[in-house]
Amino acid sequence: MADLEKTKVPTPAPLDWEYAPAPESRDIVRFQERYGLFVGGEQVEPLSGEWYSTIEPANEEHLAEIAQAREDDVDRAVQAARDAFENGWSKLPGSERAKYIFRIARILLERSREFAVAESLNSGKPIRESRDVDVPIAAAHFFYYAGWADKLEYAFPNRRPQPLGVAGQIIPWNFPLLMLAWKIAPAIACGNTVVLKPSHTTPLTALLFADVCRQAGLPPGVVNIVTGDGRTGAAMVRHPGIDKIAFTGSTGVGKEIQRTIAGTGKRLTLELGGKAANIVFDDCALDQAVEGIINGIYFNQGEVCCAGSRLLVQESIYEQALSKLKRRMSTLRVGDPLDKNTDVGAINSREQLERIEELVESGREEGAEIFQTECTLPDRGFWFPPTVFTNVAQSYRIAQEEIFGPVLSVLTFRTPEEAVEKANNTAYGLSAGVWTEKGSRILWMAERLRAGVVWGNTFNRFDPASPFGGYKESGFGREGGRHGLEAYLRFE
Ligand code: NDP
Repeated sequence: MADLEKTKVPTPAPLDWEYAPAPESRDIVRFQERYGLFVGGEQVEPLSGEWYSTIEPANEEHLAEIAQAREDDVDRAVQAARDAFENGWSKLPGSERAKYIFRIARILLERSREFAVAESLNSGKPIRESRDVDVPIAAAHFFYYAGWADKLEYAFPNRRPQPLGVAGQIIPWNFPLLMLAWKIAPAIACGNTVVLKPSHTTPLTALLFADVCRQAGLPPGVVNIVTGDGRTGAAMVRHPGIDKIAFTGSTGVGKEIQRTIAGTGKRLTLELGGKAANIVFDDCALDQAVEGIINGIYFNQGEVCCAGSRLLVQESIYEQALSKLKRRMSTLRVGDPLDKNTDVGAINSREQLERIEELVESGREEGAEIFQTECTLPDRGFWFPPTVFTNVAQSYRIAQEEIFGPVLSVLTFRTPEEAVEKANNTAYGLSAGVWTEKGSRILWMAERLRAGVVWGNTFNRFDPASPFGGYKESGFGREGGRHGLEAYLRFE
């Protein structure tokens, strides 16, 4: 025993030296002072005559003025989309549509640094993520669906796939460009035209994307972008000229949309919230699992619908897992989103920060134990430190509600059956993760977990070829893969 003690390698303390700043230059992006709506291939002034300021969440500085579209602006965009649908796009051979979509993908890659910087400025996410995840995966979606455009008959043999018409697409602020790509690429590959509304807090990469459409020579009206807040989204949902609504956002708004379009014959896909379980068994490679837990909840400040926000650890390794986790958390760097060393950036808006703070407060009040890393948060902007709650009961709000911030709730289990029961004890069903050395156990768990995506020994992996979507209050319909085409087609 004594010999064993001697050979133990002491765990090194987290390094206490500081990194030098490594800021990405912002000169590559030149925002216009004002952005109109992108309708019929041009930037037009909003009929509403209303504008608002979009800001940098990291310091609350003004970035550009953005048009607030109202009902008649939406109507104008729907008309443009309808014209483009009837008079060309839906009749083009798939191989011709593909050329435009491939072009868009290539331009996105050529302009990737500009898009990454713009995304980090307007959303608050670290440049490392926008550069290495958001932009390349957005481009990959355009490449992937360009490939399908002329093969729809093969994707659905003997079913004569036809486009739906005009798709109204409403996207959130957590992955502005990536959600745009998830929505626009399959829709136009299938021969539909679109009216897309980005979130009012993060419109800039969608507006830069309008320029990509022009650069690619995309026929006017195939893609239209209307900016504005929830009222603009609601006007799209009500518009009789829209054939399909694709929505990503909160469960509350998703339900409202479903009620509004009931009986209208409009098609609908909803990608809503989540409260994913990240399940760690005692036979896993623990250091890798800890990386997966960190990535699962602190990636994009936890503002991720499929975030692994509930950690389920097997009781036998609880102490060890928590100590490794806390140590790893203490090395996370929170701060300037444009610094290449930053791991956790700014929260997207004041409203979102207040939601996180309110839920964290409820966790304290209900009796959970809180651990936060010691980090100096900038004075201006919206910030929240990486946080973990232990002593969490399943009934606590922090174990049930989507926090959408860098906050992890830890629960324990003893047997695989108990892990399944606890993981499924949620109104949501979007994703889950399983960490174990046994492939058979991953399959056993995946069969029982009520989640649209189950990751095995990894987390938050996205691939355009792989369908994504939820069960229960996480919504319905799938995006990505061949399944993602089906949402934009009818069959004769
Ligand atoms: P919302 O559901 O309000 O926003 C999603 C999109 O819908 C945005 O473009 C929004 O516009 C728009 N919208 C808002 N109200 C309506 C409406 N009545 N009809 C049509 N469209 C509408 O989410 P929030 O931004 O308010 O975030 C709230 C919570 O939702 C978060 O804390 C998180 O828990 C969850 N969420 C989940 C997401 C996911 O990926 N599943 C993404 C975002 C949020 P605008 O933003 O301009 O108001």
